[in-house]
Amino acid sequence: MLPESTSTASGDSSAEVSSHRPCPQCGSLRVYRSHRRGGCERVLRWMGLKIRRCHACGLRFTRYGGSVILIADVERTLRGLVQLAVALAGTLLVVAAMLWLTARQAAD
Ligand SMILES: [Zn+2]
Repeated sequence: MLPESTSTASGDSSAEVSSHRPCPQCGSLRVYRSHRRGGCERVLRWMGLKIRRCHACGLRFTRYGGSVILIADVERTLRGLVQLAVALAGTLLVVAAMLWLTARQAAD
């Protein structure tokens, strides 16, 4: 009777999906472009990467080539690099001070 019998998407009510690829964590299709937060994500944007966020589980990620990069991993890596740089700078400062003191004592 009603010409409405075309096969509708089986139970999938999510009409507005900005990304066709599902969330790598939960598989939801409710994945949208996310506003960048903080310097780390700004750097990723400068690199041409698009930050995406899953509205189902809250995962923030980007894709590079075929692989998924989690924003939390990037932030953890950057934090580690900063700590390493600080530790390295501190060590260099101590070594420089020791060399300077040794040179001063040798001059006396
Ligand atoms: Zn998800």
